[in-house]
Amino acid sequence: MSEEQLYQDYLEVVKSFRRYLEEKKGMKKEKEVRKDKTEEKDRRVPLKDLCSSLQNCQDCSLHRYRTHLVFGTGNPEAELMLVGEAPGREEDLQGKPFVGAAGKILTEGLRQVGLSREEVYIANILKCRPPGNRDPLPEEIQACFPYLESQIEIIGPKIICSLGKFAAQMLLDTSRGITHLRGKPQWYKNDITLIPIYHPAACIYKPAWKKTFLDDLKMVRDELGGRP
Ligand code: URA
Repeated sequence: MSEEQLYQDYLEVVKSFRRYLEEKKGMKKEKEVRKDKTEEKDRRVPLKDLCSSLQNCQDCSLHRYRTHLVFGTGNPEAELMLVGEAPGREEDLQGKPFVGAAGKILTEGLRQVGLSREEVYIANILKCRPPGNRDPLPEEIQACFPYLESQIEIIGPKIICSLGKFAAQMLLDTSRGITHLRGKPQWYKNDITLIPIYHPAACIYKPAWKKTFLDDLKMVRDELGGRP
């Protein structure tokens, strides 16, 4: 049996195990009559505190180049959290994730599947822009990843959608390529459904990926539970 076949079988097992657990839990993840107003406030406070505590972060050398730290934006109560790689030029200038060319594709993609930026939460693996948009270095990831983990813990999304190879590999702790990973729901920490999809920036360079990107976003939307 080929390695690819073994991997496909493994994904099938993961998929049915997920189904089993979801049924078993009676979709406990429907967030115990989902978050009343008090809880909402509770989440906003630790998120804001975490954001404030990072404003002068010098945990890695990227602080030297930043205009703004890009913590994340959106709904602290979000059922869906999208995670990209790192801020680019426009994000660094505005202090918000995905507001440049890739952001336009993401925002439009979300709109096309009936979601808005306001209802989801968007963040990155790195909070500061690597110079020239180079790939993040291991020491930068090591310094920054715990902050993303804290964001995920505070928000407690039902689904994480990783954008691109980098975020998928970090969140799943794998070295598999994005073409293998995309569109296949898996688990983040055995607890939260994680669906890797292509990075919206990749659709700029490979327009043929745009359809797959949108199809995968639809799958994410469907996993959230029967939106139009
Ligand atoms: N690319 C990313 O991965 N994140 C951003 O915020 C912008 C572009």
